[in-house]
Amino acid sequence: MADNEKSERSYKDTLNLPQTDFPIRPNAAVDDPALVARWEQEKLYDKAFSLHQGAEKYVLHDGPPYANGNIHVGHAYNKILKDIVTKFARMKGMQVPVTPGWDCHGLPIELKVTQENPGLSGAALKKACRDYAQRWIDIQRQEFKRLGVVMDWDHPYTTMSFEYEAAIIRAFGVFVNKGYIERKNKTVPWCPSDQTVLAAAEIEYQERKDPSLYVLFPVEENAVSALWPELRDKEVSFVLWTTTPWTLPLNRAVLIKPHTDYVVVKSNDDRYLILGAALIDKVRALVQQELPVVHTFSAEYLLATKPFAHHPFIPDLKVPVIASGTVQLNEGTALVHCAPGCGPEDYEVGVEHALEIFSPISPDGKYTEGIKPEALLGMAVSDGQIWVIKELAAQKKLFYKTSLRHPYPHCWRCRNGLIFRATKQWFCDLSRDNLKQKSVDAIDTVTMIPAASANRFKATLEGRLEWCLSRQRVWGVPIPALVCDACDFTFITAELIEQVAVGVQQQGIEYWDTVTVEQLMPKGATCTQCKKGTFAKERDILDVWFESGVSHYAVLRENPALAFPADMYLEGKDQHRAWFQSSLLTAEVLEGKPPFKRIITHGFTVDEQGKKMSKSLGNVVTPEQMMAQLGTDGLRLWAASIDYADDAVISPALTENIKEVYRKIRNTMRFLLSNLYDFDSSRDVVALDALLPIDRYGLHELIFINAKIRDAYERYDFTDVVHSLGDYCSSGLSALYLDIIKDRLYVEKADGIKRRSAQTVCWYILDTMTHLMAPILSFTAEQLSDHYQNDKKRSIHLQEFADLMLLWEQLNAADKRAQKDISFQTKAFKHITETMHEQQYMQTWQQLLQLRSAVLKAIEKIREQGIVKHSLEVKLTLNLDPEALQGKELLMPFFNALDNQSSQNVKAFFEEFFIVSQVVLDNDHDGLQSSEYPGLSLFVEHAQGNKCPRCWRWDTTNNPDHLCSRCEKIVQ
Ligand SMILES: [Zn+2]
Ligand SMILES: [Zn+2]
Ligand SMILES: [Zn+2]
Repeated sequence: MADNEKSERSYKDTLNLPQTDFPIRPNAAVDDPALVARWEQEKLYDKAFSLHQGAEKYVLHDGPPYANGNIHVGHAYNKILKDIVTKFARMKGMQVPVTPGWDCHGLPIELKVTQENPGLSGAALKKACRDYAQRWIDIQRQEFKRLGVVMDWDHPYTTMSFEYEAAIIRAFGVFVNKGYIERKNKTVPWCPSDQTVLAAAEIEYQERKDPSLYVLFPVEENAVSALWPELRDKEVSFVLWTTTPWTLPLNRAVLIKPHTDYVVVKSNDDRYLILGAALIDKVRALVQQELPVVHTFSAEYLLATKPFAHHPFIPDLKVPVIASGTVQLNEGTALVHCAPGCGPEDYEVGVEHALEIFSPISPDGKYTEGIKPEALLGMAVSDGQIWVIKELAAQKKLFYKTSLRHPYPHCWRCRNGLIFRATKQWFCDLSRDNLKQKSVDAIDTVTMIPAASANRFKATLEGRLEWCLSRQRVWGVPIPALVCDACDFTFITAELIEQVAVGVQQQGIEYWDTVTVEQLMPKGATCTQCKKGTFAKERDILDVWFESGVSHYAVLRENPALAFPADMYLEGKDQHRAWFQSSLLTAEVLEGKPPFKRIITHGFTVDEQGKKMSKSLGNVVTPEQMMAQLGTDGLRLWAASIDYADDAVISPALTENIKEVYRKIRNTMRFLLSNLYDFDSSRDVVALDALLPIDRYGLHELIFINAKIRDAYERYDFTDVVHSLGDYCSSGLSALYLDIIKDRLYVEKADGIKRRSAQTVCWYILDTMTHLMAPILSFTAEQLSDHYQNDKKRSIHLQEFADLMLLWEQLNAADKRAQKDISFQTKAFKHITETMHEQQYMQTWQQLLQLRSAVLKAIEKIREQGIVKHSLEVKLTLNLDPEALQGKELLMPFFNALDNQSSQNVKAFFEEFFIVSQVVLDNDHDGLQSSEYPGLSLFVEHAQGNKCPRCWRWDTTNNPDHLCSRCEKIVQ
């Protein structure tokens, strides 16, 4: 035994043991940033942008993230998916320019900058906002680069560049010229003290005590007679609950809940009152009356008469009763006072039912011209609150009065209570030329991935009530219009818009602050409508969704390297109601068709409980944290592995799983590398005809898996790509092929055909897999190719996928011998898998693999008995019954072909295939054990002779130092 160990050591130098300096574990924290720096130095982004000029173009249009704050894991997920899509297309040989973008204007930045620099306004405020946005663009750009995302980082589009700002104005000009723009009332939250509109982020809720009134709106007499004939001479009234009595003069409807029961009750003073059946007990308890029910009826019974109600104190005003799902049954009376000019929900009901958006309220919160009763004219609405209560009491229309404390919206600046009032706003008319419906229909022409997202996209668009384009802010693109200070007439023409666009193109939106009305209008011009007023510049700016929505116009159309429409938009599902929608609507107006051929929609990033990540929940995971745990490629592998039809879960279990998949892939690639240290693909490749049968099978497997993975990429099914890569490395390759050929790689003559045959296939696998994984495992693939591509001239991300179809055709020609009639015209996965010959070949190998597992089971049995420790200690005697053998019609021709080839006969094939030392084929052997494979009998015993100290195979050759006959020849 001691002698043997010594000689094993002395033969070690004669083996071809694996060598590589490719590390087992990645050193991502150091190597990944270094690789990013190298890509930057190599100008990878520039080169990728202009690669494959003249080839078919693939344009993914990057939806712009907001230039505020560090990127979170949702941004990382989105950009990595985009990077996978574009890297794949580029490696197919397409021309794939990717221009990243940033969304820069808007309230969050304006608020932040205002907080940091109180007192700034006008052009100075805009300058500060510009600097702020630019700072975050630079930070986010570094963060995206760090993820290995390849885009044209030095030439991004930003919505605040002068060119883009001018393009927004020109796009708006097209909307004006085509008649899509209208200016009309919209109800907005308003602070009467600061005299300004407030954005949602500026509203704070505070407890406030308000009156709580139950007000009577008498039902019109005709309706009473029709509904309840016996009450025809009585006053029957709807009971409406309100806590804002000052808005009652602005009432334009009574809302009733559809499919709900209502009752007529009789009050103590013999009046008849209508309220919701579900709320009658609450009201009885509150007012301390019995209120006996006289009638019970459904909302539909009432609505069938199309009834009107008398306003409680405006004598000649009758308002309609309208069914509305917004009516609540948890408080009040199930009948709601609707004033579209002073309530946001009322406004929506008003728009839906074409009610007047009536709002005669001044900016400082006083009733103005047009208010009824006229006594209110000039009165502050806070005083109107008391006036209305007195008037209701005087008119005997106040059924009950109490007060309540409730959360009420307040202004964040002055802490005073808000009101809602209608102001003039700019709208895009969605009904013009059927814009909304045309856009909904156009979704059918877009490939929506996943398919189910089409319905969600349509639903959000169909549910859209209006598009208000104006905002009362500073940091954004001005609406290029002039407004009469006397009659509110707006002056907006194509010439004016173009003049402003030219100014903005030169000076940015700051131009609007400095240009004078005189420069924009002929001198001394007065209002064409009222003939007396003078014009002032419109102060409103455009909705940021209009800005980013027209990126197809400002970027795809403007940049000759890109194209309209884009091949792909790829964003989270929240963009159905946002960027996807504003892009579609604006493209329908500007271009008459959608700006995208395909849309991929992905889910949100959530924790393991499915909760959206938020600071307040404390469940936020940052991209840095994930990269620290997994490396950059681990983060990318995670992004690719997610089924984007669902939300993207980040959990410890999933992280472990990703680590495991990555480890398997890396180990397999490292094994291949380490066995190719002396292989030069330009010199040592073995002709396909000369490959050993197992190597040929390995190559077939590779061609199959390559086609399968390419097909999964084509379908944008990255989950499938990751599974296929992982499975191939764990069960396909390592468990079978690589295990079998180890002996040949280590033991056979270094440059002999047997080792070169295996190395040839190893090289194809390494090269093919490295390219296949590159769109996802971008760092690992670059490092692998650094190691095996001897004369590497360019980054793996500028290379094309290995074209195995040529190989496959040759391989098939070699296998088929004379059968040359099958043509291979398409490159589709389907084609490979459906080819008759390929099917036959793979079926043969399925039989062989079944045969192998039956044999391995029998070996395992004697290993358990302690007769052998390792399969190399086994001698196998096989009886393959040519009549009864399962799959004989496939296997017998295969065995015959082997015996007619010089490289490996059936016996040698089996020794390698089963990883045993000795195989005897004997159809007459006595005492063969039967096996689980029909037609196979076998006998397993300990091998004879001695263990070769070099290769550990058992051999009966009688050499002095027990070298087997194979090793003896090699060592000589
Ligand atoms: Zn205020
Ligand atoms: Zn005027
Ligand atoms: Zn040997």
